[in-house]
Amino acid sequence: MKNKVVIIGCGNVGEAYAYALLNQKTYVNELVLIDINKEKAMGDAMDLNHCLAFAPSKIKIYAGDYQDTKDADIVTIAAGVNQKPGETRLELLERNKKIMEDIVKNVLEHNFNGIFLIATNPVDLMSNIVYKASNFNYSKVIGSGTSLDSARLRFLIGEKINVNPKNVHAYVIGEHGDSEFIPWSNANIGLNSIKDYLNEKELINIENEVKNSAYYIIDKKGFTNFGIGVCLVKITNAILGDENTIISVSCYNKEHDIYISNPAIIGRNGIKEIIKLKLTEEEINKFKNSIYTLKNYK
Ligand code: NAD
Repeated sequence: MKNKVVIIGCGNVGEAYAYALLNQKTYVNELVLIDINKEKAMGDAMDLNHCLAFAPSKIKIYAGDYQDTKDADIVTIAAGVNQKPGETRLELLERNKKIMEDIVKNVLEHNFNGIFLIATNPVDLMSNIVYKASNFNYSKVIGSGTSLDSARLRFLIGEKINVNPKNVHAYVIGEHGDSEFIPWSNANIGLNSIKDYLNEKELINIENEVKNSAYYIIDKKGFTNFGIGVCLVKITNAILGDENTIISVSCYNKEHDIYISNPAIIGRNGIKEIIKLKLTEEEINKFKNSIYTLKNYK
């Protein structure tokens, strides 16, 4: 097994993902960096190689081009423009659509047969574009979706009630964007309902903070990257390690012919199962609202 990953787009996000891969125990043996700015990818590869003497994993890292996707297990796409302060993710659609279609075309020319992992925003719509343009089975096109929002949620709850975020079992679902929401009826701390720990007002405050996290960070540092970098590693490891890990990712919703986030079991072949959630009526309506939001832009 090669366990080879190709990153396309080595900006803030691509870099953070590569760096997080190096700093965690990972299954990746070979990491290829591609960017339209070739010098940037070469500089990153040199810099990352200089970490290897102290890194927990041994990875072959180099700047490459599209022919390197031929035998890759995962192609991760983080190319394209990011949000400027005050800009929504959906406003990036037109600018990133063309980039995404060009990238898929270039990758397919080299008979890539692995899994596409998408981070570029608006990630649900970009994943849908990759799905349609590649003609791959839906299980092999995964968007990072609300994995990041769910990580933010778990952190905030953990802080609030002083519990390890690893024991917070809660997910953000729907659009990775303003219409996302938290199905609180499915949220638990250990085995108990979150409602045993937090009141309605506290839940609303946490939900608002999760939704606005990217805006806060972008106002302060201009972009977000560390959180998404680690989420992409988590999804990468779930695939390469055939872990059957449950992560909230952007995946294909057949009924509505759209990509949208839902917890899914992820293993060596990508999406193994999209978990059917038992939602309240109010939550079902919120999910529908998210679907219509995305469909309006599609
Ligand atoms: P960035 O501007 O720092 O990097 C983008 C990189 O893409 C640049 O290096 C650029 O040269 C490269 N690029 C552009 N067109 C290309 C092409 N056709 N082929 C190859 N490379 C190309 O942007 P960033 O901050 O890294 O953000 C990248 C994307 O990730 C944005 O769309 C951003 O909104 C998104 N993002 C997603 C999440 C998430 O949770 N999914 C989180 C943060 C950012």
